[in-house]
Amino acid sequence: MRTEVTVGIDVGGTNTVLGFVDAEGRCLAESSVPTMAHEPASSLIDRLTAKIKELHAPLADRAAIAGIGIGAPNANYYRGTVENPPNLSWKGITPFVALFKERFDVPVVITNDANAAALGELRFGAGKGMRDIIVITLGTGLGSGIIANGELVYGADGFAGELGHTIVDLRGRWCGCGRRGCLETYAAATGICRTVFEMLCNSREESEFRDVAFNQLTAKMVTDAAKRGDPIARAAFEYTGEILGRKLAESVAHTSPEAIILFGGLANAGDLIFAPTKRSLEEHVMGMFRGKVKLLPSGLPEGNTAVLGAAALSWTELLKGR
Ligand SMILES: [Zn+2]
Repeated sequence: MRTEVTVGIDVGGTNTVLGFVDAEGRCLAESSVPTMAHEPASSLIDRLTAKIKELHAPLADRAAIAGIGIGAPNANYYRGTVENPPNLSWKGITPFVALFKERFDVPVVITNDANAAALGELRFGAGKGMRDIIVITLGTGLGSGIIANGELVYGADGFAGELGHTIVDLRGRWCGCGRRGCLETYAAATGICRTVFEMLCNSREESEFRDVAFNQLTAKMVTDAAKRGDPIARAAFEYTGEILGRKLAESVAHTSPEAIILFGGLANAGDLIFAPTKRSLEEHVMGMFRGKVKLLPSGLPEGNTAVLGAAALSWTELLKGR
């Protein structure tokens, strides 16, 4: 008998990764293709189709493809589209799901990458067995997916769960969304770099970053310096965690999650980010929630979190109908 697998696909700015994942979250095969977003999206879908067939050929007698799940920037779950994605040059609305359905006779579903990550944590990762979680991706920006009462919150238009664009400071930093003071301008890879430079301007503290240009600074450099005890880098983590914890305390009031899961580059800094975030969350959360919300790292194996998330999206839809 053949096991069923879903194909998880994560569309990234440079590469698009894909893998075959069974119902237990085991990845049977994986690969990637260059996204090449300067070409039409149909070119990516043709190359993905060829790659899926190539990966499936040696598995064909033991694995059957039951569905396809896609995580992509600005993807709309209801319409099956990718709409004016940032960092990719596809203009307007691309009917991703329809284009896949022309090539595969299985259910196809899409959502944004942060929502897919949340479903991955719920089904296969740190949120397994829970019904209410919030998953925060601390990458270049801040992505988030909210699971309430066991279901992902898509909202009326399919774009719910944009905690990165809730406002920390009305007169704060300019954000890519055109407004000021969004959480992701503070709590994300580029946000912590902006904090380092702000702190360098406003203090006389010695720091290894005094000789570094802004466009050369990376969040990884801030993490490494903080581990070595650099006072500016350590203060930048404290400040980032303070702001993140404060905003998470507000989210707790909205959905009362059992756990908040942090993952992505900045979350790999471990205690440097978890400790101040937890402290600030507990300090600012409403009394009746205090001491109840777990702050957890991702429970997915590093490297294929995106594929597992997209595959979990497909599994979630398939199992709903059974
Ligand atoms: Zn914003």
